[in-house]
Parts: sequence; C-alpha cells; structure tokens
Amino acid sequence: MRIVLLGAPGSGKGTQSKLLVKAYGIPQISTGDLLREAVANRTELGLKAKSAMDAGKLVDDAIVLGMIRERLICPDAAEGFILDGFPRNIAQAEALHKMLAELRTPLDRVLLMNLDLKVLFKRLTGRRVCERCGRVFNIYTSPPEALQCDHCKEQGRLTQRPDDKEEVIGKRLEVYEAQTTPLISYYRAAGLLRSVDADADVDTVFKNIRAAVDS
Ligand code: AMP
Repeated sequence: MRIVLLGAPGSGKGTQSKLLVKAYGIPQISTGDLLREAVANRTELGLKAKSAMDAGKLVDDAIVLGMIRERLICPDAAEGFILDGFPRNIAQAEALHKMLAELRTPLDRVLLMNLDLKVLFKRLTGRRVCERCGRVFNIYTSPPEALQCDHCKEQGRLTQRPDDKEEVIGKRLEVYEAQTTPLISYYRAAGLLRSVDADADVDTVFKNIRAAVDS
C-alpha cells in the first residue's frame, strides 16, 4: 500500500502515520523528520535546510527530492510506504509521479486530513515533543501526566519545535494554503484523493483513515 498523507501542519499526519505503520507494516517517510535529523546532525543538507525551516518556509525542492529518491529505493519501502509531509507542492508531486512510474509502483491513495484552521493553530501551539524518544504530546488535547514524557519519565524533557512558535505558525499555514492546497485538485483529478475528517480523537480519526484506505 502506497499512501500520501496530505494535510496542513498540525492536522495529525505524524500521529496517524505511526498507527498506519503498525497496521500495514510499511514505513513512514516523513520529510520533516528526515530534515530535522539532518539539522540535528549538522550535515551539509541540514545546514542548507535550517534557515527555511526556522522561517516556516519550504526547503528547496532539489534537497527534498534528493532525500526522497534515496529513501524510496530502500528495501523496507518495497512493499509500500506512508509519505508524511511530502509532496508539498505541484513540482514535488510531479517529480514523485515520475519516480514511482520508473519504479513501477504507483500511489494507491492520497488521504486529505480535513481540519479547521482554528483547531490547527491550537494543536500547533500546544504540541510538545520528548527530546529523548520523539513521542508527541499536546498540552491541550493529549497532555502528559507530568511535565515530562509519559514513557521516558524524568529523562524525557518535553520541548517545543522551533517552528511551532506562534510567530512561525502563521507563515507555515500561509505556505500550506498557497503551495500545498493545489495538490487537492491535482490528486482529485487523478482519482486518488479521499477526504478524512481529522477533527476528532486519535482513534476515531484512525478509523476514518482505515475506512478511506479500504474504500
Ligand atoms: P513538517 O514536520 O512536515 O511540518 O515539516 C517541517 C518543516 O520541514 C517544514 O515547515 C518545511 O520547512 C520543511 N519540509 C518538510 N517537508 C517538506 C517538503 N516536502 N518540501 C519542502 N520543505 C519541507
């Protein structure tokens, strides 16, 4: 099963990808995670990507496409994958189409996570990530028991992603609207798009996703 999860920042793509990984036994490929890892490891690619990420803008297509090309040919992606946060614009979608055509592995579904802008804002400002294991919490919607990771306990300090700061969120949502929403009609025209109500608790959204995948 080859799936694209499409949705604004904060729509729950990362959380739902992890559930899909368990259910279908295919890897999550998150360009945001790959880029954050490159930034943390101070690789050349990470250094190039950092300023755009900090400003809430898209990283250069060439950087992202190079990363995706390498990742898609890894053996664990042979049976399928969940693309989370990619493609983000029409040029990336067209490049992806070309890559998958060469590999003879076309997409099966594009799932659009539908969520109100106000809810998105609250989800993003409330998001906290465990520095140790990467688990995601939300101080409003799924608060940790104490101000620490429920799993790593006192070793798991919760931090806010730099691009989840209020001043950057506006820019990220603006970029989504301008550059990523055209993908909705692009994938609808290709007959791949399924819309999912993402304004519910994690389990309910996952049920909606499974229904959309199986439809
Ligand atoms: P995310 O974790 O998906 O919200 O991504 C965090 C940041 O990484 C974005 O705001 C962009 O700066 C960058 N990024 C992630 N995926 C892409 C992509 N497909 N194209 C360009 N930039 C990306």
